[in-house]
Amino acid sequence: MATPTVEARRLQRERHHEADVVVVGAGVFGCAAAHALAEQGRSVLLLERWMTEPDRIVGELLQPGGIQALKRLGLGHCVEGIDSITCRGYNVIYRGHDVLIPYPTMDDDGGVPYQWSGAGKEGKREVGKGFHHGRFVSRLREACLAHPNITVRETEVVKVIRGEHSDHVLGVETRTKDPATGVKTPDCFFGQLTVIADGYDSKFRGEVTADKPVARSKFYALELQDADLPAPGFGHVVIGEAYPILLYQIGTHETRALFDVPHNIPEASVAAGGVRNYLTRHAIPALPASVRPAALAALEGGRLRSMPNSWLPPTPQVPRGVVVLGDAFNMRHPLTGAGMTVALHDALLLAELLHPDRTPSLSDDAAVQAALRALYWRRKSYTAILNVLAQALYALFAADDPQLHALRVGCFEYFRRGITDGPCGMLGGVIHRPVVLAYHFFSVAFLGIWMHFVETVTSGPGPLGVLKAPIAVVDAVLILAKACVVFLPLIWREGFR
Ligand SMILES: Cc1cc2nc3c(=O)[nH]c(=O)nc-3n(C[C@H](O)[C@H](O)[C@H](O)COP(=O)(O)OP(=O)(O)OC[C@H]3O[C@@H](n4cnc5c(N)ncnc54)[C@H](O)[C@@H]3O)c2cc1C
Repeated sequence: MATPTVEARRLQRERHHEADVVVVGAGVFGCAAAHALAEQGRSVLLLERWMTEPDRIVGELLQPGGIQALKRLGLGHCVEGIDSITCRGYNVIYRGHDVLIPYPTMDDDGGVPYQWSGAGKEGKREVGKGFHHGRFVSRLREACLAHPNITVRETEVVKVIRGEHSDHVLGVETRTKDPATGVKTPDCFFGQLTVIADGYDSKFRGEVTADKPVARSKFYALELQDADLPAPGFGHVVIGEAYPILLYQIGTHETRALFDVPHNIPEASVAAGGVRNYLTRHAIPALPASVRPAALAALEGGRLRSMPNSWLPPTPQVPRGVVVLGDAFNMRHPLTGAGMTVALHDALLLAELLHPDRTPSLSDDAAVQAALRALYWRRKSYTAILNVLAQALYALFAADDPQLHALRVGCFEYFRRGITDGPCGMLGGVIHRPVVLAYHFFSVAFLGIWMHFVETVTSGPGPLGVLKAPIAVVDAVLILAKACVVFLPLIWREGFR
């Protein structure tokens, strides 16, 4: 039976719309944060505009690091009973050649013994899960609905409410739709702290930052039925002959295909026949032959949907009653499927820093500001890797210039030589040391330079190819410079600012 305190706080939420925390958005971050704070005894109001099961093309592969965070949040069961599919790593397909990069072997302390080089043969491996996003989010919402310290309300937040005599945020104004009449009525909800997690298209991001997301491409999505994947149980990344394509199973019979289409490419122009033309003539032919029939059938008969691929680096916040987190705060290209892993780790860290033992009152601006400052710097241990990797790999896999091409060749050869535990451990979100990323990135660059050098000087005619050595040296400098131009600004922005 509920204790009187719990019951009194429930009535306070339901009758007076007052709680310790108001969370805006019951997506991945909002649910995880609401649950984590409620577990610590905080009274939480979770506000969501649409409580029906989301039908979206995002957030369908949760990396092993995200699964670990989900379990630590006490929400591990949310990936069970939803026809989720175990993912053991990636199959990278470059111009028709495959290389498997499984998630790494782990030691008993959760470390990756081969993170600097090579790959473990035997040992425990963490796995990821593919699923329908809406089913996963519905399970997260069910966990929140069942929590005695959380009240969930279907209502659309339209405004933050500030105090009359200060700019401290007191809560939010909403519109609640009467399901019978469709009429929307104004409502208000108050909390000591308002946590905004309203996703990529956030209305309230401007409360804490002037920065706007930058998107240079979109992912177009198809849902393939019974696709014959070359390496079942692995996510597939197809590169080289088209812009990057992702394939991963999200149900027993369903496979998600995501096709990256940069803005304004001629192959997808209206004159050329639009995105369908690009998919039919360029992207689908680049898929493994076994997958093409299912892809063509899905394009013919299914829905083609799209989402922008945004980059939004985090900015420090000085909260005065409100914080903005999740995609509203920080985004990276979804090529590496890192968004939910970041969101779940952020929810864990937020709850740790706002724990009542550490931050007794959430209306204490100075204490909350100190917690948010700590969050901003401490989250870099995982976000610097996941965010930089997503942006840097996208630059390598999608770009169309000779230096990036050499880096792409180097990257594929790196994997082919069996150096996979480090790279896949970072992709999977189980390695949290940014120095490992710098090491592998520049190792790939030097391998790419070496391969380009050898190819240049052995490209004949006969032994005269050696005469091209000076050109190869100039190319080497250009490739290294390009690697620095791609990597250093990103690591500076994500790791040190
Ligand atoms: C194409 C694509 C594919 C992706 N694939 C992956 C992947 O495979 N793996 C991965 O980890 N990540 C992936 N991501 C990223 C991932 O989806 C996000 O990082 C994650 O969903 C962010 O969670 P969130 O809670 O911040 O936002 P969301 O999950 O978008 O949740 C926001 C919630 O807020 C609600 N809301 C919005 N406005 C209001 C309002 N005014 N009032 C009340 N409620 C409101 C929304 O209805 C929604 O429920 C992908 C992203 C894209 C674009």
